[in-house]
Amino acid sequence: WRKYHCPLDKDTLGDMTWGVLHSTAAYYPESPTPQEQSLAAGLVHGIAGLYPCTYCRTDFQECIQALPPRVESREAFSVWICKQHNLVNEKLGKPVFPCDLKSLDRRWKTGEPRCWGEKGGEDNNHR
Ligand code: FAD
Repeated sequence: WRKYHCPLDKDTLGDMTWGVLHSTAAYYPESPTPQEQSLAAGLVHGIAGLYPCTYCRTDFQECIQALPPRVESREAFSVWICKQHNLVNEKLGKPVFPCDLKSLDRRWKTGEPRCWGEKGGEDNNHR
């Protein structure tokens, strides 16, 4: 925790939150159980309801009302989060990201195998 100033600034918080959402979707089951689907939707609604950047969360709430979370599969959840992130990117004038599963997996799942520390890499902080 010493790496970060406290409280987190808006951009650090956003970067980390998107990381949690995209990573969770990347490793979400291909065929989730009803309980897993409920947990995934709960994660999204929890962030939308409690996110500390108040104007961010107001906009996010409107966005998920217009386009409710898709949690029926790994692909649906990954693409849905990508689209939500792109709405914010567009609002901020940032480039949009391609929302096909191959591009998403390259960025959030398969690109850096050492990130999970399974091949003797340095990043073993998931334990
Ligand atoms: P981020 O946008 O944080 O992206 C992190 C990484 O995700 C990027 O480096 C890229 O590799 C990858 N990425 C980018 N887009 C996608 C995508 N569509 N799909 C998959 N991967 C992608 N900031 C505001 O100023 N105003 C707001 O209203 C606002 N609302 C937000 C709402 C939510 C729910 C969240 C989580 C954040 C919000 N933010 C908002 C923060 C904003 O989205 C960024 O996180 C912040 O500006 C930092 O941007 P960044 O350049 O570090 O990259």
